[in-house]
Amino acid sequence: MPLKLYDTMTRKKRDFAPADPERVTMYVCGPTVYNFAHVGNFRPVVVFDVLFRLLRRLYGESHVLYAANVTDVDDKINAKAAEEGVPIRAITERYLAAYNADAAALGALPPTSQPRATETMDAIVALIGDLIHQNAAYAADGHVLFATAAFSDYGKLSGRPLDEQIAGARVDVAPYKKDPRDFVLWKPSKPGEPEWASPWGPGRPGWHIECTAMIAQTLGLPIDIHGGGEDLKFPHHENELAQGVCSGHGREYARFWLHNGFLNMGEEKMSKSVGNVTLAHDLLATWPGEAIRWALLAAHYRQPLAWTEDQLVQARNALDHLYGVLGRAKAIEAVTSAGDDVLAPLLDDLNTPAAFAEVKRLGNELDAAVRKGAPEGAGLKGDLLALAATLGILQQDPQVWFQGGADDDLKGRIDALVAARDAARREKDWAEADRLRGELSALNVEVMDGPAGATWRIKEQA
Ligand SMILES: [Zn+2]
Repeated sequence: MPLKLYDTMTRKKRDFAPADPERVTMYVCGPTVYNFAHVGNFRPVVVFDVLFRLLRRLYGESHVLYAANVTDVDDKINAKAAEEGVPIRAITERYLAAYNADAAALGALPPTSQPRATETMDAIVALIGDLIHQNAAYAADGHVLFATAAFSDYGKLSGRPLDEQIAGARVDVAPYKKDPRDFVLWKPSKPGEPEWASPWGPGRPGWHIECTAMIAQTLGLPIDIHGGGEDLKFPHHENELAQGVCSGHGREYARFWLHNGFLNMGEEKMSKSVGNVTLAHDLLATWPGEAIRWALLAAHYRQPLAWTEDQLVQARNALDHLYGVLGRAKAIEAVTSAGDDVLAPLLDDLNTPAAFAEVKRLGNELDAAVRKGAPEGAGLKGDLLALAATLGILQQDPQVWFQGGADDDLKGRIDALVAARDAARREKDWAEADRLRGELSALNVEVMDGPAGATWRIKEQA
């Protein structure tokens, strides 16, 4: 069963095969680190994490190289550093750490490399030199510009016709541009801004050139898959492609282009409690990362995603149910039965809604098998866990999922209350047992009595 991916360039779902199955390469445009990131910025993080997991499963963990960059040269970073009166590096370090912590809380594996603009300067300067050498760039008035006319396919990726490209660029066209579409590769720094040495004078790179230079440096051109949000198609990816092709590496830059749709905030149905929360960092204070991850993957990645509290509630309820099933199936040893067939929904252009439906179906069948003591439970559990692992869900111990909202201190108190209540029940002191249950209830703890003694969980917040 081949992996099919929708390629923006050819506007078709195509069978994916890497140029070298022992070295599968993927690049995804990453964040500019100057603040906590909006939850929408994490949609590509989890979408391409699912693809990363799927590729690792298909080609072997050590055969997939995934680079996601960090933009640490930017006006917004400089402004934030000036506002706080701290060095630029203090801002970029702080928010890169926060970004990576949020991504990890959403279950994203670390990419195999995370190149930074500030650490790619030599490659950026060399690439600009290559472009000038190929007559695809020119120096003018302290700047270096890409000569868009040098790339006959300019506009093909985004499908944006020439007049719209010009209309888009016409706002404030600098006098040194030969064509309004030409874009900056290198520019002089303003006083107080960081600058690097170059043959065209001290300055800093434009944004688009950093991705092309990082891809060439960390993965080598061409790559198998280039990903990012659909807002990056034009001009960012169009410009990346033009730079990559015209730098003399060959006609090919990325063999597949994948773009995820927008996350739309402000739906009418959204309640205030989520409507006001736009940063993943803040959402993670109230919701389990795994539920946020599920909600971010609930729509097909190419479709817009309406971000509502309802999505989060549904995701958490589904996870409660599935972890409940896995808890009941704890004694069953999982065996893989369906092999890669269980990945079928994901092999079809990462159809995550269909994959979640299959996860739920497998969960229900496993639950029925557990209740009946049926032997097919082992295969169902194996298939469920295999598909879930590729989605990046259901990887925790069920006990940890249910008690994840409590810190060690609280857990200790709860354990003591549950044990005292068990003892009261054994002594048939029902009044004391009820009193203790009330105390637990006040801590938002639900006690579940079972044959092996009582277990507990933190109840969902109302
Ligand atoms: Zn990029």
